[in-house]
Amino acid sequence: QSYKSVALIVGVTGIVGSSLAETLQYPDTPGGPWKVYGVARRPHPTWLAKTHVEYIQCDVSNTEETKSKISPLTDITHIFYVSWVGNEDCSMNAVMFQNILSSVIPNARNLQHICLQTGTKHYIGLFETDTSDTHDSPYTEDLPRLKQPNFYHNLEDILYEETGKNGLTWSVHRPALIFGFSPCSLMNIVSTLSVYAAICKHENKPLVYPGTKASWHCFVDSADAELVAEHQIWAAVDPKAKNQVFNCTNGDLFKWKHIWKVLADQFGLEMVGYIEGNEQVSMAELMKDKDSVWDEIVKTNGLMPTKLKDIASFWFADIAFQCENVLSSMHKNRVHGFFGFRNTTTSFISCIHKMRAYKFIP
Ligand code: NDP
Repeated sequence: QSYKSVALIVGVTGIVGSSLAETLQYPDTPGGPWKVYGVARRPHPTWLAKTHVEYIQCDVSNTEETKSKISPLTDITHIFYVSWVGNEDCSMNAVMFQNILSSVIPNARNLQHICLQTGTKHYIGLFETDTSDTHDSPYTEDLPRLKQPNFYHNLEDILYEETGKNGLTWSVHRPALIFGFSPCSLMNIVSTLSVYAAICKHENKPLVYPGTKASWHCFVDSADAELVAEHQIWAAVDPKAKNQVFNCTNGDLFKWKHIWKVLADQFGLEMVGYIEGNEQVSMAELMKDKDSVWDEIVKTNGLMPTKLKDIASFWFADIAFQCENVLSSMHKNRVHGFFGFRNTTTSFISCIHKMRAYKFIP
């Protein structure tokens, strides 16, 4: 088969990487037909084998390994960088991205565009830093950088320098909280909440909301992983999107109190919402001894084997359930011609259904 474009997805098993792998293989995807290379550290997962990805197992934090495995891929035309180290260390995250660019740019003569995924932490600061220095929402792409270290700044600087030197185009994508189906993501809120619900069900307990009062009542925005994939593909091929930073959200808003009801219904649970006067209870703390419970749920339901620490990130839910008014504007997208959207409730339910279809959750 002859291809029009050749993608390198760095982080192909992750929350957006897996949706990119799926979307790029559809016959009507812009820029197609696409040949797709996909990179991650762990062995090729069986669930990803349904896509036509040429899988490359590579630790891109290792400079030599990246050079030897990625530089021979001389036909790459577009890079989709949807990975991170798994912590917020600026230099380690920078090394990973630089290793990819140093391996691809000198060798792939037809390379055109690089998509870099960062996120809303650009506006609110890293999880680990003092949140008093943040921007007021709704966030627009032109807001200045916060005056604090942030690995997103390091990644952007590498992107601007490398594309500038080499005459390539770029786009930076700042998604809100992502709803997706990957069991290999370090931050998948839907799989985390589904696993929490499955454990409540298994232990015959109601679905209690452990977050803060403000987070229960406030508006939140999110980004469906398929929509984020479509957003990146749009920017990769549409001239109107070149050399720009874009937020990415579904375009609607939700509240956890509404999604909580949907979650309870999906798992046949009694719902207990925020209890007046309660302080936040850490889900990471609540779930810290549940590894064997999850192993049992996997076994009794004949699920794909996963470990609790891989499929659920309760620390991340703890952060989500204390956020307030983290909202991004999609106005710039409309001006530049991106009109994609999703219904957040439908997105939440379809991620659960997809995880069930793949036998990741009961
Ligand atoms: P995920 O955690 O979902 O996926 C990471 C991917 O990268 C996996 O495929 C992982 O596979 C791979 N990977 C990790 N380390 C390496 C390595 N050393 N070498 C090769 N592959 C590696 O990523 P996200 O999409 O969540 O994160 C990407 C960016 O998006 C981050 O900057 C994040 O902050 C941002 N973001 C995420 C949001 C979310 O809700 N998840 C929301 C908004 C922004 P393996 O482990 O097998 O290597």
